[in-house]
Amino acid sequence: MFLWKALHGALPVGLQLEARGIPIDPSCCRCSEPESVLHLLFHCEFACQVWSLAPFSADFNALTCVNVPDGLITAKSMVTLPPVGLESGLLFSWICWAIWISRNQKIFESQNFTAKETVLKAVQDAREWSAAQELGSTSSLPKPIGRPLTNHLGMDFTTCCSDAAWIADPDSAGFAGIGWIFYSGEEVISSYSASLPVVASALVAEALLIRQALLKALELGFLSLMLKSDSLSLIKAITKKSQILEVHSILEDIDLITSSFNCIQFKFIPRLDNSVADSVAKHALRIFMFSRG
Ligand SMILES: [Zn+2]
Repeated sequence: MFLWKALHGALPVGLQLEARGIPIDPSCCRCSEPESVLHLLFHCEFACQVWSLAPFSADFNALTCVNVPDGLITAKSMVTLPPVGLESGLLFSWICWAIWISRNQKIFESQNFTAKETVLKAVQDAREWSAAQELGSTSSLPKPIGRPLTNHLGMDFTTCCSDAAWIADPDSAGFAGIGWIFYSGEEVISSYSASLPVVASALVAEALLIRQALLKALELGFLSLMLKSDSLSLIKAITKKSQILEVHSILEDIDLITSSFNCIQFKFIPRLDNSVADSVAKHALRIFMFSRG
């Protein structure tokens, strides 16, 4: 899934997010060059260092890759040296993944992994994956890997309860108040609210809210997240990757943003169980209406 996204320009790198109108600095977090997928995986000095340290039988000069498919095909053809114990053509994907994870850790958690640590992580992950495949062929328990949406959250994750309040308006399309709260267990970590002046419908408000809350979670470094919403149609559309025409482009943004999380789950909660987020959103809407007089 990750490589597919890399190939199709669908990784939420700086240039991609900028093109989608998301207000973000599009430059590489290591060298300040514009961050494209090609730059991130092959042309950045950091990426070149990682590839040069990889245990391949020949040197791989990532700078010579002319585009992402070329880079991936060349990297896949590299022979992995013994005694790494990995079949050839396997390690390259884990190196790409480790470069991506290192980048996210640096941006969202201010953690600096060196090129050497990044290669070690790739080798370790590749070995684990390889071992799990052998295990999987004898037992019926496949190990969930890859796409964040299917990962287990484990014990240590942040919960985000979110809700939007929307009111129709004859002059503009409508107004919305959005609110979301981050919890660690039962304990509130922080809560946010905002008012949005031109919003076409309640569904659009809910979608904008989820996008906003996810970006905030990334900014705060909550990379394992359970997002709860009482909008059943949105939760269904996100988890089943189906489309709703009205919020098509926002859903695409959400899909892009979710790939920056280590693990993420979306969950429907009934309105009655979402009363705190509901009141935060309504409060934001009231203040906005009040300020308009
Ligand atoms: Zn760079």
